[in-house]
Amino acid sequence: KSYESVALIIGVTGIVGNSLAEILPLSDTPGGPWKVYGVARRPQPAWNSDHPIEYIQCDVSDESQTLSKLSPLTDITHIFWVTWANRPTESECCAVNGAMLRHVISAVVPNAPNLRHICLQTGHKHYMGPFETFGKVKPHEPPFTEDMPRLDAPNFYHTLEDILIDTAAAGLVTWSVHRPAVVFGFSPHSMMNLMGSLCVYAAICKYENTPLEFPGTKAAWNCYSVASDADLIAEQQIWAAVDPNAKNEAFNCSNGDVFKWKQLWRVLAEQFGVEYVEFDEREEEEGRRRSMVERMKGKEKVWEEIVRAEGLLPTKLEEVAMWWFVDVFLGGECMLDSMNKSKQHGFLGFRNTGTSLVSWIDKMKGYKIIP
Ligand code: NDP
Repeated sequence: KSYESVALIIGVTGIVGNSLAEILPLSDTPGGPWKVYGVARRPQPAWNSDHPIEYIQCDVSDESQTLSKLSPLTDITHIFWVTWANRPTESECCAVNGAMLRHVISAVVPNAPNLRHICLQTGHKHYMGPFETFGKVKPHEPPFTEDMPRLDAPNFYHTLEDILIDTAAAGLVTWSVHRPAVVFGFSPHSMMNLMGSLCVYAAICKYENTPLEFPGTKAAWNCYSVASDADLIAEQQIWAAVDPNAKNEAFNCSNGDVFKWKQLWRVLAEQFGVEYVEFDEREEEEGRRRSMVERMKGKEKVWEEIVRAEGLLPTKLEEVAMWWFVDVFLGGECMLDSMNKSKQHGFLGFRNTGTSLVSWIDKMKGYKIIP
């Protein structure tokens, strides 16, 4: 079979990587027919192996492994960077994430003469600063627009952008940067899956017959929020990979609507048949609000029981629920972004966030990740 384009997805089992792996091989995907290589460290999970891709087990933080596994792939035309590494400090994040991208570029650029474009996924922390400076460095004033200057704080997103721009300076490849808000998608191998975590929480509430209390703050409950559907992000990246109007630019990527958690919370409760309750303002006023980490302390056994009783795909609680991320994310007001630039450049994709939420829950249930 002859291919028009050949993708290398770094992070193919992640929350957006899995969407790319599903969408790229479809017959009507722009730039296709696509051949797809997908990289992650763990063996290919069953839920990813439905996609017609060539799976490569490789740790891209290891330079020699990356060189030996990726340099033979001489037909790559596009790289999709949908991975990251977390470390205790942002300067360590800069070092490790930068090294990962450099390893892949050194393995691919000299060996793949048809390489044309690199998509880099970063996110809203570009405008808010990294987790470690939340509350210390003043974020940009929302709605965020792509022309806002970098904040004066270390950020591995800057490191990655700089490597990308340096690589493109030789004139051989173009680049695009994609900045989603919180991602709604499917992946039990993601390091930050808000939806997945909330579904596991709802399943635990159902099992223990307790109401679905909102673990965030009043500000998060009441404010307008935005989210980014994983398939939409994949579609924007594919658009940028093939459309000349998208070259060498950064783009926000959110669904194009706003929602309030107080509304989505009811939808979440309905999906799991668990009791919906309003946010308890008194708890917050009296300083009694419990974080998600506190609420879910010691629930590993409960999750094991749910997995067994419901015949779910075996997972450990810490793999499918990131309570720290829920606390960070629902800890304050959501900051909105603008999709004007993306639309002006020709990407008109959007999602209804409520529908997106339900469709991802259905998919997670379908693959027996959650009951
Ligand atoms: P995920 O955590 O969902 O997925 C990471 C993927 O990379 C997995 O496939 C993982 O598989 C793989 N991986 C991790 N380390 C390595 C490695 N050393 N070598 C090879 N593969 C590796 O990624 P996200 O999509 O969440 O993150 C991508 C970017 O998007 C990050 O910069 C993040 O900050 C940003 N972002 C994410 C948001 C979200 O809600 N998730 C919101 C906004 C921005 P395995 O573990 O098997 O290696």
